[in-house]
Amino acid sequence: MSGVALISGGSRGIGRAAALRLAAEGHAISFCYQSDRQAADLLAKELTELGVATLAERVDVTDAGAVRAWVTRTEQDLGPITVAVASAGITRDKPLLLMADEDWQAVTDTNLTGTANLCRAVAFPMVKRRAGSIITLSSVSGVYGNPGQSNYAASKAGIIALTRALAKEVGRYGVRVNAVAPGMIETDMTSVLTDAQRTDALKHIPLGRFGTADEVADSVAFLAGPRSAYLTGSVLQIDGGIVL
Ligand code: NAD
Repeated sequence: MSGVALISGGSRGIGRAAALRLAAEGHAISFCYQSDRQAADLLAKELTELGVATLAERVDVTDAGAVRAWVTRTEQDLGPITVAVASAGITRDKPLLLMADEDWQAVTDTNLTGTANLCRAVAFPMVKRRAGSIITLSSVSGVYGNPGQSNYAASKAGIIALTRALAKEVGRYGVRVNAVAPGMIETDMTSVLTDAQRTDALKHIPLGRFGTADEVADSVAFLAGPRSAYLTGSVLQIDGGIVL
C-alpha cells in the first residue's frame, strides 16, 4: 500500500499507533494534535527517522477553516490524501443531571463536529479523484450507551450515523467511510480510571483485559486498505466482547 494518510489526534494513543502502522505500510503521514507539542515532535522525529514523509500541525478540529487549511497544506506538501482517520476525541464524564453546559458542548464539538469537519474537508478532494478511505473513531459507548458518559455516548453515536450517511453519499464516487468502535483501550484517555473502575470494567470484558492502541490500529489499517474494498458504512467493534 502507498499513499498519504491524514490523522487527527495523531500525537497520542490510537491516533499515534495508527500513524505508525499506516507509515509501516508505506503511507506518508500528516497528523494534527491539540496541545502536546512534545509528543507530536517525538512522533514526527520517529517517522522522519524511518524515512517517512511527515507533516505535523497543531490544528483544533472544532475549527472547520483550520481543518480545511491543514488538508490543503497536506495535499500540497505530501500529495493526494488516500486515507483519513478521525481520531481526535475527548471525554468529560459526569451523570447528565450534574453535567456542566460547557462539558456537553466541548465533547460534542470536539468528537462529533470535529469528525464532521475532517470528513467534509477530505471527502471533497477524494470524491473529485474517485478514491479514498475515511475511518472514524466511534466507541462502544456510542453503540450501547454508558452511564456517566451521555455527552460522549451521544457524540459517538452521532459519529456512527455520520459515517453511515456519508458512506451512502460518497460510495458511488469510489470513497469508502467506515467506523471503528473500540471498547476499553490502554491509552491516556483510560489512564484516568480508578482501580475500582478498571476492576468493574474488566468484569464486563470476556477476553479479560483492556485492548491496546496497536490492536485498534490493526483494524484501522484493515479499513484503510484493499482487503476491505467492499466494506463501507460499517462499524467494526473492537472491544474484547464487552457487554455494557
Ligand atoms: P488520547 O486522549 O490518548 O488522544 C486523543 C488525541 O486527540 C490527542 O492526540 C489530542 O491531542 C487529540 N485532540 C483532542 N482534542 C482535539 C482537538 N480539539 N483538536 C485536535 N486534536 C484533538 O485518546 P485515545 O484513547 O487515543 O482516543 C482516540 C480516539 O478513540 C478518540 O476519538 C476516542 O474517543 C476513541 N476511543 C478511545 C477509547 C479508549 O478506550 N481509549 C475507546 C473508544 C473510543
